[in-house]
Amino acid sequence: MSGGGQVEIVCPQCGQEAFLIREPVYDGFAKVGERRKCSSCGYFFGDEEDPGYKRAEVLDIFDESDRTQKTEVFEDGERGILCRYCRHYVVNPFTQWCGLHRREVEATDTCDEFEKGDENSKEESVI
Ligand SMILES: [Zn+2]
Repeated sequence: MSGGGQVEIVCPQCGQEAFLIREPVYDGFAKVGERRKCSSCGYFFGDEEDPGYKRAEVLDIFDESDRTQKTEVFEDGERGILCRYCRHYVVNPFTQWCGLHRREVEATDTCDEFEKGDENSKEESVI
């Protein structure tokens, strides 16, 4: 081992646990960059290519669970047909009212006869 800071990878090419080797790239005599190589099979990874960092694997798992939690809290799919977005929905100080079915509704109710309305049409139909 040459010094610390070895980067462990699971190489996507050979499937082996290996080290990521950085090799300097020269243009003539000038060093223009580095390229990364698998210590097991010698494959050179492209600049954007993921060499299978072991650490990155763990981070991916955490991201996955974060995303799942957010989806459970927010169900955007139903939002479009809620009574509060319907043109028949009326709010006054005492109740929330469906002008079409002439009954009390909740803002979060859904309805088969939903018609998308806007803020202005609500005000016109206030009883
Ligand atoms: Zn390899």
